[in-house]
Amino acid sequence: MVSVAIDGPAGAGKSTIAKRVSAELGFIYVDTGAMYRAVGAACLEKGVDIHDKEAVIALLPDISIDIVFRDGEQRVILNGRDVSEEIRMEKVSMTASVVSAIPQVRAFLLELQRNFARNYNVIMDGRDIGTVVLPNAEVKIFLTASAESRAERRTRQLEEKGVHADYDTVLRDIIERDHQDMNRETAPLKAADDACIIDTTELNLEQSVQKIIDTIKEKL
Ligand code: C5P
Repeated sequence: MVSVAIDGPAGAGKSTIAKRVSAELGFIYVDTGAMYRAVGAACLEKGVDIHDKEAVIALLPDISIDIVFRDGEQRVILNGRDVSEEIRMEKVSMTASVVSAIPQVRAFLLELQRNFARNYNVIMDGRDIGTVVLPNAEVKIFLTASAESRAERRTRQLEEKGVHADYDTVLRDIIERDHQDMNRETAPLKAADDACIIDTTELNLEQSVQKIIDTIKEKL
């Protein structure tokens, strides 16, 4: 089995690009952020205070997350309910970032993530895929872009979905989430020593997809 790890900060285009690249290469695309989002959504649903670590840990045995693929697209099933759309809400993003700093939450999701790589050729995206989840991945990419261009793209994406988005708020949230993700003790966001760093600030979607396909082909 071949694994491609794609890590990077919020809004760098990881999921959009990884979806396209996986379709082109015939790999399955696994979005690990969606799993942290599902844990965050479970806390919101049960009214658990996400800053109370013990309360979040106590909720874990009641959380069941299933990842299924429909028409090649990952769907996230939380306790039997498809939450794939609702976990995209901005309040879930921040909640996911807070609970993802808890080591027990990371351990809870680790096997689920590694299992995909044992059974399929995968492109897996997240924050710690090349460093912690799949340290032996054949290809590791760290995808980044300036915070401003990430905020611009994210604002546009939300507006396209019909969700009102304010650029300044999106930028502030992105900077805050990056800060949290980079500075946590367990599995912080960082490039693996052997990752190829790709900055997409000056690239459009097509150019980014092509650059990643070229990088993967070079390595395999
Ligand atoms: O990738 P996405 O923005 O959906 O991830 C939501 C949050 O989940 C991130 O801000 C990060 O805190 C957390 N996450 C993580 N490790 C991963 C993937 C996501 O900590 N592998």
